[in-house]
Amino acid sequence: MKILCTNDDGYLATGIGVLARAAEKLGTVTTVAPDREQSATSHSLTMDRPLRVTEIHPDLRIVNGTPTDCVTLATQDLFPGSFDLCLSGVNHGPNMGEDVFYSGTVAAAIESSIQGVPAIALSYADRTSADIEPWLDAILDVLRPLVEHMEAWRDGVLNVNIPPIPPAECAGVRFTRLGRRRFEGSIHRGRDPSGKPYHWIGGGTIHHETERGTDYAAITNGFISVTPLKVNLTAEDVVDVLDALPALDFSPRVGTRAVPGTAG
Ligand code: MN
Repeated sequence: MKILCTNDDGYLATGIGVLARAAEKLGTVTTVAPDREQSATSHSLTMDRPLRVTEIHPDLRIVNGTPTDCVTLATQDLFPGSFDLCLSGVNHGPNMGEDVFYSGTVAAAIESSIQGVPAIALSYADRTSADIEPWLDAILDVLRPLVEHMEAWRDGVLNVNIPPIPPAECAGVRFTRLGRRRFEGSIHRGRDPSGKPYHWIGGGTIHHETERGTDYAAITNGFISVTPLKVNLTAEDVVDVLDALPALDFSPRVGTRAVPGTAG
Protein backbone atom coordinates (compact mmCIF):
# COMPACT_ATOMS: atom_id res chain seq x y z
CA MET A 1 0.00 0.00 0.00
CA LYS A 2 1.31 3.46 -0.96
CA ILE A 3 0.46 6.15 1.57
CA LEU A 4 0.63 9.94 1.28
CA CYS A 5 1.16 11.76 4.59
CA THR A 6 0.44 15.45 5.04
CA ASN A 7 -0.70 17.89 7.72
CA ASP A 8 -1.40 21.55 8.43
CA ASP A 9 1.08 22.10 11.27
CA GLY A 10 4.11 21.95 8.99
CA TYR A 11 6.53 19.11 8.25
CA LEU A 12 8.50 19.63 11.48
CA ALA A 13 5.47 19.07 13.73
CA THR A 14 5.50 16.20 16.23
CA GLY A 15 2.15 14.90 14.96
CA ILE A 16 3.19 14.21 11.36
CA GLY A 17 6.34 12.47 12.59
CA VAL A 18 4.26 10.10 14.73
CA LEU A 19 1.77 9.58 11.90
CA ALA A 20 4.46 8.80 9.30
CA ARG A 21 6.08 6.28 11.65
CA ALA A 22 2.70 4.57 12.22
CA ALA A 23 1.99 4.64 8.46
CA GLU A 24 5.33 2.93 7.72
CA LYS A 25 3.88 -0.19 9.41
CA LEU A 26 1.03 -0.16 6.86
CA GLY A 27 2.89 0.55 3.66
CA THR A 28 5.33 2.76 1.77
CA VAL A 29 5.13 6.35 2.97
CA THR A 30 5.70 9.57 1.04
CA THR A 31 5.27 12.86 2.90
CA VAL A 32 4.31 16.07 1.09
CA ALA A 33 3.62 18.71 3.72
CA PRO A 34 3.63 22.49 4.19
CA ASP A 35 6.99 24.04 5.05
CA ARG A 36 5.38 25.93 7.97
CA GLU A 37 2.24 26.00 10.06
CA GLN A 38 -0.95 26.31 7.97
CA SER A 39 -3.59 25.66 10.65
CA ALA A 40 -7.08 27.05 9.96
CA THR A 41 -6.31 27.60 6.27
CA SER A 42 -9.28 25.36 5.46
CA HIS A 43 -9.48 24.26 1.81
CA SER A 44 -7.58 27.20 0.32
CA LEU A 45 -5.59 26.76 -2.86
CA THR A 46 -2.68 29.11 -3.63
CA MET A 47 -3.18 30.73 -7.04
CA ASP A 48 -1.56 34.18 -6.70
CA ARG A 49 2.08 33.06 -6.67
CA PRO A 50 4.24 30.12 -7.76
CA LEU A 51 4.68 27.20 -5.38
CA ARG A 52 8.13 25.80 -4.58
CA VAL A 53 8.59 22.11 -3.84
CA THR A 54 11.75 21.29 -1.90
CA GLU A 55 12.99 17.71 -1.75
CA ILE A 56 14.37 17.11 1.76
CA HIS A 57 14.90 13.46 0.80
CA PRO A 58 13.09 11.24 -1.78
CA ASP A 59 10.26 10.44 0.67
CA LEU A 60 9.83 13.97 2.02
CA ARG A 61 8.86 17.00 -0.05
CA ILE A 62 7.89 20.33 1.50
CA VAL A 63 5.78 23.01 -0.16
CA ASN A 64 5.49 26.74 0.60
CA GLY A 65 1.70 26.46 0.42
CA THR A 66 -1.41 25.10 2.07
CA PRO A 67 -2.32 21.49 2.90
CA THR A 68 -4.66 21.48 -0.13
CA ASP A 69 -1.76 22.67 -2.32
CA CYS A 70 0.34 19.78 -0.99
CA VAL A 71 -2.29 17.12 -1.78
CA THR A 72 -3.08 18.65 -5.17
CA LEU A 73 0.60 18.66 -6.19
CA ALA A 74 1.26 15.20 -4.73
CA THR A 75 -1.68 13.45 -6.40
CA GLN A 76 -1.75 15.30 -9.72
CA ASP A 77 1.85 16.18 -10.47
CA LEU A 78 4.60 14.81 -8.21
CA PHE A 79 3.30 11.22 -7.88
CA PRO A 80 0.20 10.92 -10.10
CA GLY A 81 -1.82 7.75 -9.64
CA SER A 82 0.55 6.50 -6.96
CA PHE A 83 -1.41 6.57 -3.72
CA ASP A 84 -3.87 4.09 -2.19
CA LEU A 85 -4.45 6.15 0.97
CA CYS A 86 -3.82 9.63 2.37
CA LEU A 87 -3.29 10.27 6.09
CA SER A 88 -3.47 13.86 7.34
CA GLY A 89 -2.28 14.93 10.79
CA VAL A 90 -1.82 14.15 13.56
CA ASN A 91 -3.09 17.68 14.14
CA HIS A 92 -1.98 19.49 17.29
CA GLY A 93 -5.47 20.27 18.57
CA PRO A 94 -9.02 18.91 18.12
CA ASN A 95 -11.02 19.00 14.88
CA MET A 96 -14.57 18.32 15.98
CA GLY A 97 -17.97 19.74 15.11
CA GLU A 98 -17.72 22.90 13.02
CA ASP A 99 -13.91 22.80 13.29
CA VAL A 100 -13.94 20.64 10.15
CA PHE A 101 -14.83 23.73 8.09
CA TYR A 102 -11.74 25.65 9.25
CA SER A 103 -9.26 22.82 9.56
CA GLY A 104 -6.41 22.46 7.08
CA THR A 105 -5.94 18.89 8.34
CA VAL A 106 -9.48 17.85 7.39
CA ALA A 107 -9.36 19.86 4.15
CA ALA A 108 -6.24 17.96 3.03
CA ALA A 109 -8.12 14.68 3.56
CA ILE A 110 -11.16 16.00 1.66
CA GLU A 111 -8.94 17.16 -1.22
CA SER A 112 -7.42 13.69 -1.38
CA SER A 113 -10.88 12.14 -1.53
CA ILE A 114 -11.82 14.56 -4.34
CA GLN A 115 -8.69 13.37 -6.19
CA GLY A 116 -9.88 9.78 -5.77
CA VAL A 117 -7.58 8.73 -2.94
CA PRO A 118 -9.38 7.62 0.26
CA ALA A 119 -8.23 9.65 3.26
CA ILE A 120 -8.23 9.75 7.04
CA ALA A 121 -7.71 12.95 9.07
CA LEU A 122 -6.32 12.54 12.60
CA SER A 123 -6.24 15.10 15.39
CA TYR A 124 -5.06 15.03 19.00
CA ALA A 125 -7.61 16.90 21.10
CA ASP A 126 -5.05 18.99 22.97
CA ARG A 127 -2.30 21.37 21.92
CA THR A 128 0.40 19.73 24.08
CA SER A 129 2.03 18.10 21.08
CA ALA A 130 4.63 16.11 23.05
CA ASP A 131 1.77 13.97 24.40
CA ILE A 132 1.07 12.62 20.88
CA GLU A 133 4.27 10.53 20.92
CA PRO A 134 2.99 7.74 23.27
CA TRP A 135 -0.07 7.28 21.00
CA LEU A 136 1.88 5.80 18.07
CA ASP A 137 0.94 2.13 18.67
CA ALA A 138 -2.68 3.00 19.51
CA ILE A 139 -2.96 5.07 16.30
CA LEU A 140 -1.74 2.05 14.35
CA ASP A 141 -4.33 -0.16 16.13
CA VAL A 142 -7.09 2.27 15.04
CA LEU A 143 -5.83 2.70 11.48
CA ARG A 144 -5.29 -0.97 10.67
CA PRO A 145 -8.97 -2.13 10.73
CA LEU A 146 -10.18 1.14 9.14
CA VAL A 147 -7.76 0.62 6.25
CA GLU A 148 -8.64 -3.08 5.97
CA HIS A 149 -12.32 -2.13 5.56
CA MET A 150 -11.75 0.83 3.27
CA GLU A 151 -14.55 -0.19 0.90
CA ALA A 152 -17.06 0.80 3.62
CA TRP A 153 -16.02 4.46 3.64
CA ARG A 154 -13.75 5.10 0.65
CA ASP A 155 -16.11 7.58 -1.04
CA GLY A 156 -15.83 9.94 1.94
CA VAL A 157 -13.32 10.82 4.61
CA LEU A 158 -12.83 9.59 8.17
CA ASN A 159 -12.24 12.23 10.82
CA VAL A 160 -10.43 10.75 13.82
CA ASN A 161 -9.97 12.63 17.11
CA ILE A 162 -7.79 11.26 19.92
CA PRO A 163 -8.64 12.11 23.54
CA PRO A 164 -6.04 14.17 25.48
CA ILE A 165 -5.19 11.41 27.95
CA PRO A 166 -2.49 8.71 28.09
CA PRO A 167 -3.35 5.84 25.69
CA ALA A 168 -3.51 3.34 28.60
CA GLU A 169 -6.53 5.30 29.93
CA CYS A 170 -8.38 5.32 26.59
CA ALA A 171 -11.86 3.76 26.82
CA GLY A 172 -11.96 2.52 23.21
CA VAL A 173 -13.29 3.71 19.84
CA ARG A 174 -16.68 5.31 19.11
CA PHE A 175 -18.16 5.93 15.65
CA THR A 176 -19.72 9.36 15.95
CA ARG A 177 -21.42 12.30 14.22
CA LEU A 178 -20.22 15.90 14.23
CA GLY A 179 -21.32 17.86 17.31
CA ARG A 180 -21.88 21.60 17.64
CA ARG A 181 -19.60 24.14 19.27
CA ARG A 182 -19.43 27.87 19.86
CA PHE A 183 -16.53 30.13 20.76
CA GLU A 184 -16.85 33.00 23.21
CA GLY A 185 -14.31 35.77 23.62
CA SER A 186 -12.14 34.72 20.71
CA ILE A 187 -11.98 38.13 19.01
CA HIS A 188 -9.45 40.43 20.65
CA ARG A 189 -8.99 44.13 20.02
CA GLY A 190 -5.77 45.96 20.66
CA ARG A 191 -3.27 48.44 19.25
CA ASP A 192 -0.05 47.54 17.47
CA PRO A 193 3.30 49.19 18.47
CA SER A 194 2.61 52.11 16.11
CA GLY A 195 -0.82 52.72 17.67
CA LYS A 196 -2.94 51.30 14.84
CA PRO A 197 -5.94 49.27 16.01
CA TYR A 198 -6.20 45.55 15.22
CA HIS A 199 -8.53 42.60 15.68
CA TRP A 200 -6.96 39.21 16.49
CA ILE A 201 -8.98 35.98 16.26
CA GLY A 202 -7.95 33.13 18.55
CA GLY A 203 -8.27 31.59 22.00
CA GLY A 204 -11.43 32.27 24.01
CA THR A 205 -13.74 29.80 25.67
CA ILE A 206 -15.24 26.89 23.76
CA HIS A 207 -18.75 25.70 24.59
CA HIS A 208 -19.75 22.42 23.02
CA GLU A 209 -22.69 20.09 23.08
CA THR A 210 -21.91 16.70 24.56
CA GLU A 211 -25.04 15.10 23.13
CA ARG A 212 -24.80 11.32 22.98
CA GLY A 213 -23.30 10.02 19.74
CA THR A 214 -21.28 13.15 18.95
CA ASP A 215 -17.53 13.50 18.58
CA TYR A 216 -17.44 15.78 21.65
CA ALA A 217 -19.24 13.20 23.80
CA ALA A 218 -16.76 10.49 22.77
CA ILE A 219 -13.70 12.63 23.51
CA THR A 220 -15.16 13.89 26.82
CA ASN A 221 -15.65 10.28 27.91
CA GLY A 222 -12.12 9.21 26.94
CA PHE A 223 -12.93 7.46 23.65
CA ILE A 224 -11.25 7.85 20.27
CA SER A 225 -13.85 9.43 17.97
CA VAL A 226 -14.18 8.32 14.33
CA THR A 227 -16.63 10.44 12.31
CA PRO A 228 -17.32 9.49 8.68
CA LEU A 229 -17.72 12.66 6.57
CA LYS A 230 -19.39 13.11 3.19
CA VAL A 231 -17.61 15.28 0.67
CA ASN A 232 -20.84 16.12 -1.19
CA LEU A 233 -22.58 18.61 1.13
CA THR A 234 -25.97 18.44 -0.65
CA ALA A 235 -28.87 18.32 1.82
CA GLU A 236 -30.71 15.54 -0.07
CA ASP A 237 -33.87 15.79 2.06
CA VAL A 238 -34.16 19.56 1.50
CA VAL A 239 -33.98 19.14 -2.30
CA ASP A 240 -37.23 17.16 -2.11
CA VAL A 241 -38.85 19.64 0.34
CA LEU A 242 -38.02 22.64 -1.90
CA ASP A 243 -39.16 20.73 -4.97
CA ALA A 244 -42.57 20.17 -3.34
CA LEU A 245 -43.17 23.88 -2.50
CA PRO A 246 -45.64 25.29 -5.09
CA ALA A 247 -44.52 28.88 -4.35
CA LEU A 248 -41.03 28.01 -5.58
CA ASP A 249 -42.18 26.50 -8.85
CA PHE A 250 -40.85 28.97 -11.40
CA SER A 251 -41.06 26.62 -14.35
CA PRO A 252 -43.95 28.28 -16.28
CA ARG A 253 -42.12 31.61 -16.44
CA VAL A 254 -38.79 29.99 -17.21
CA GLY A 255 -40.51 28.13 -20.02
CA THR A 256 -42.00 31.24 -21.62
CA ARG A 257 -39.10 33.63 -21.10
CA ALA A 258 -37.68 34.96 -24.36
CA VAL A 259 -34.07 33.95 -24.90
CA PRO A 260 -31.98 37.03 -25.82
CA GLY A 261 -30.77 37.03 -29.39
CA THR A 262 -33.42 34.64 -30.68
CA ALA A 263 -36.28 35.69 -32.96
CA GLY A 264 -39.52 35.89 -30.95
MN1 MN B 1 -3.06 22.40 12.85
